[in-house]
Amino acid sequence: MMNLKEKADTFSWVGLEVDKLTMELEPFQREEILLPTEPGGWWHQYVCPQHHTELIFDAMECNAVVFACPKGCKLEGEPYRGAWLVYRHQAMARYALHAAAVFAADGEDFYSGLAQKILVGYAEQFPLYPVHPDAQPWMLSGRAFHQALTEAIWSTTLIRAYLLLVDHGVTFAEEEELKLQVFFTMLEESMEQYRHILIYEKKNAESNYTAWLNASLACIYAAKGTTEKLASLLEGEGGFYHHLSIGVKPDGFEFEGSTYYHIFVLRAYLIAAEMAGRFGVDLYEAKGDQGQSIRGMFQLLVEISGDNGELPAVHDGPYARVPFAREIAEVFEIGSAVYTELNLQPILANAYRYLYGEGERTGLEAVLYGVGESRELQSTYTVRDSVLLPDSGFAVLRHPGNPLSVLADFGEHGGSHGHFDKLHITIMHRWGEVAPELGMVPYGSILRKEWYSETTSHNTVTIGGRSQAPHTGSCRQFRKEGNATYLWIRSDGAYEGAILDRHLVLADGWLLDWFHVEQVMERDQEVDLWFHPTGHLRLPADPHRVQTASPTFLGLEAGYGSVEILSVMKNETDCMLNTEWNIRYREVGTDREYEVSTSTLLAPGSIMHEIRTPGIAEDPSRLLRGIMLRHIGPSVDFITVYREGHEPAVLKLVSQAGELPRIQIATTGQRIDYCLDPKAGLIQEESRNTEE
Ligand SMILES: [Zn+2]
Ligand SMILES: [Zn+2]
Repeated sequence: MMNLKEKADTFSWVGLEVDKLTMELEPFQREEILLPTEPGGWWHQYVCPQHHTELIFDAMECNAVVFACPKGCKLEGEPYRGAWLVYRHQAMARYALHAAAVFAADGEDFYSGLAQKILVGYAEQFPLYPVHPDAQPWMLSGRAFHQALTEAIWSTTLIRAYLLLVDHGVTFAEEEELKLQVFFTMLEESMEQYRHILIYEKKNAESNYTAWLNASLACIYAAKGTTEKLASLLEGEGGFYHHLSIGVKPDGFEFEGSTYYHIFVLRAYLIAAEMAGRFGVDLYEAKGDQGQSIRGMFQLLVEISGDNGELPAVHDGPYARVPFAREIAEVFEIGSAVYTELNLQPILANAYRYLYGEGERTGLEAVLYGVGESRELQSTYTVRDSVLLPDSGFAVLRHPGNPLSVLADFGEHGGSHGHFDKLHITIMHRWGEVAPELGMVPYGSILRKEWYSETTSHNTVTIGGRSQAPHTGSCRQFRKEGNATYLWIRSDGAYEGAILDRHLVLADGWLLDWFHVEQVMERDQEVDLWFHPTGHLRLPADPHRVQTASPTFLGLEAGYGSVEILSVMKNETDCMLNTEWNIRYREVGTDREYEVSTSTLLAPGSIMHEIRTPGIAEDPSRLLRGIMLRHIGPSVDFITVYREGHEPAVLKLVSQAGELPRIQIATTGQRIDYCLDPKAGLIQEESRNTEE
């Protein structure tokens, strides 16, 4: 592999990016480097208590005392200062790596000096930090941070900077090298101790923490050149191979079913692999007991991403944030270099687009890990098939002729990072989101528990005004046939005595969503189906729809307290009522618009609520308008057809009373009848090409 100097000389884009990185370090020509003498707190508390948005962080500010929310609030004191210190320590570690990269590429001593000052500064400072007294009780407490986990992550950045310098011929003065070795040894002792507690005392070897303690220790051993200890990180309980076997499902998903923690663990694995590589051990091709592999973890992300490379924020994890996008860029640059047969470019391009506005290789991650003649990246996936992930419990339905795709969640709850979200669907358009998973706010926000983990914030069903119980659903059928994919998923553990069945068909011209609920015990509870699109919702003028005088609430518990009712329409007739509505979107970063039109069959007595709720987790205060359908009674069918464009599909009930329900869906040129049999599933009865 080329070193950075050779890369900068060979690829013109790398040289240009190094110039930009050099410019960014300009302020350090004049300013002294000030490392905070206080340890960091918990970053999740860096969130506005009023707007629930992450507070603004300026990496160049040395000693912040006022913390601003993007909406204008000004906060002071704890816990914001402690949280800010985490960002500051992480930023200084990143500057060390940044300066080391500039030095490695252009050889100017000022930059190696800058990186050295940060490294030696932390080596001097580290023994002075107390073992953190303010850590939350469930945390393994660290020294430079509340959490040992944060310390592990921070240490890998510093040591990568150290190794980059050493690899490019930098030597430290004897006294400084000694301080660094003391620092590494202290880190080593703490990390080994945390690892012991986590694996043997807490018996939590599968935790995402373990992967990070392994990564940190691999870095430390590489920095100290202690080959003999590496083996202890690979073999045995909680070792690399064991963690891959228990922390990742056979279908490739990290066991918590969270996109964020999946990438978190993947990044730790890649750091461990980089360090093991220095000792001549190849972990890139390592396999778990059931075939789990790093390659498989990349493949999984490709499977669940949207056509534009956007990753759904399933289970805990931010909707989008700068540090996460950098992590994605790093992981996918390394992945693209190692697993050349995988197409990882659209996800990579999407991360760069979020960070820099353009979907091409830019910035520190690109310089450090990017390989290739060109900075340009393919920005969309073309043809990908529908896929079932049987172990983690997700399915993605795709169709080459349909710009819409859908991801359904029926798997395990996901431990402490799960949401009460079984049978949730995320709908995507080729150009962006339609009804996504809303993501998670920083954990310090009360909305974590009061909205984002509750069932009501997901596109699924609640019964009796309560959230679902943590449980695992099942897949009854997954069939790719002709030119459609059919998925039938079930949940019978969400509410005692209730069975929830969701049937999805993705065909050429539409997405059919039939949600059938049976209550066998308490038979007259409210069944609510939630739908949270992010676009501009337009409901037709309808004399039966009544605006509520002032926004009202349907309850306080289980997220209902975050939902305002804007208008209400009840089906007072004794037949199914067809209602159509439309949502308009604009593709992020362009003027391109897209639309989704829907037709819903509202059962007699059912009520359609127009709702207003907190927005996606990146900015909860940007409220969303959505739909909640309510039915009271022992059994209900919610039937909706989504279609790309301005014209909804024609949806009607064609069966007589007393028969199994049959519906007909018609669009230009096509007409299909389906029988909705709760026992046998969805049966396609007749398909007619109506084109003249
Ligand atoms: Zn605020
Ligand atoms: Zn969720």
